[in-house]
Amino acid sequence: MTTTTPRLIDTELLSDLKRFGAADVSACFSCGTCTAICPLVDNDSTFPRRIIRYAQVGMRDELLASKELWTCYQCGLCSDSCPTEADPSEFMAAARRYAIASYEPTGLARVLYTRPVIGSVIATAVAAFFAVFMYAARGPQNGESLELFTFIPEGLIHWTGVAVMGVLALAGVFGLASMARRVARSEGVSLRTLVGGGAALWSTAKALWSSLGVESLGQRRYREDCKDDNPVEPLYRRRWLIHALTVWGFLGLFSATILDWGLAIAGVKETGTPIPLWYPSRLIGTMAGISLVYGVSMFMVNRKRQVNRAAQHSTASDWLLLVLLWITGVTGFLIELALYLPDPPTWGYWVFLFHVAVAMELMLLLPFTKFAHAMYRPAALFFYALAKGRSKQAV
Ligand code: SF4
Ligand code: SF4
Repeated sequence: MTTTTPRLIDTELLSDLKRFGAADVSACFSCGTCTAICPLVDNDSTFPRRIIRYAQVGMRDELLASKELWTCYQCGLCSDSCPTEADPSEFMAAARRYAIASYEPTGLARVLYTRPVIGSVIATAVAAFFAVFMYAARGPQNGESLELFTFIPEGLIHWTGVAVMGVLALAGVFGLASMARRVARSEGVSLRTLVGGGAALWSTAKALWSSLGVESLGQRRYREDCKDDNPVEPLYRRRWLIHALTVWGFLGLFSATILDWGLAIAGVKETGTPIPLWYPSRLIGTMAGISLVYGVSMFMVNRKRQVNRAAQHSTASDWLLLVLLWITGVTGFLIELALYLPDPPTWGYWVFLFHVAVAMELMLLLPFTKFAHAMYRPAALFFYALAKGRSKQAV
């Protein structure tokens, strides 16, 4: 005799989702208009209304195990055509916020999303902590040249950064494992189906390439399927490009930091040694900084003006992420300017301290803000590519 685990119904699910910004989807009667109009449906006749159904009937586990939650790019076409004004596009965004808060165990993401005042106090306290911590260990300010790593000792920044990255990695791995375990179980994916034999390894490698290379870096579905509502939108204002520039900018800055660190370890150049603008790590950092500041500034302007569906509803946590990214990028440029001015300005030291404190906070809070989608979306797209590969083989 076989026994089946009874499904757990969460009667609070719909009201909980509303705390994360979801519209009232109780009026949705599964008419299928959103499915018909969504450019990302891809032979799935239940997307996106199946996720709404989960919320309506309290199927929390199924909702959190849905890879489809992350394949929506919030173009808003479904909301524009929904006859009951259930706003499926915003519902999907709120469900993703809910999922980010559910995958991580500390409850911090939930507070940042649903308690804006407490969230703002926490964010300010974390930044203040890092600033005071750095300030307390400050060294002398050289007035003849800007010696930033004498003012804030390099070792202090390095080891604080290592500790922050440790917390980031721990929270990130925990959240990702929680999400991947749920999705893998619901998709019937196991270690054996991933690496058991040559064919399995080949399809895993293809799915990884599709998820990380084609989609995450190349933004293919965002670019091709999710066309902007306005076809005459100039390229520099297109959502996919703004998103891509932000992603590439962030990765570029991260690479420049690692490169600089690597050069110091290899004995090529000590951290803080004056270098020309064309030096590889400085050049990559500058290009990436321009990309990031442009992308984030456009996101902020679009949210302020509410130019599209994706920008119409913003939580305090969304703004926190954008503001931290923007401050990190802009203060980075101010430091660069100070370094190349003929007379080193003393404000360069204070901007540097502020920059380091905000950058540390940004890294620490990444797994608890919208940025966490940078982990969950590629993972979901990996499962999506695996399922697509399997269905092709079955044909
Ligand atoms: S969300 Fe709207 S368009 Fe989609 S199935 Fe429900 S009622 Fe129909
Ligand atoms: S927002 Fe766009 S991508 Fe997402 S479900 Fe609606 S139509 Fe599809």
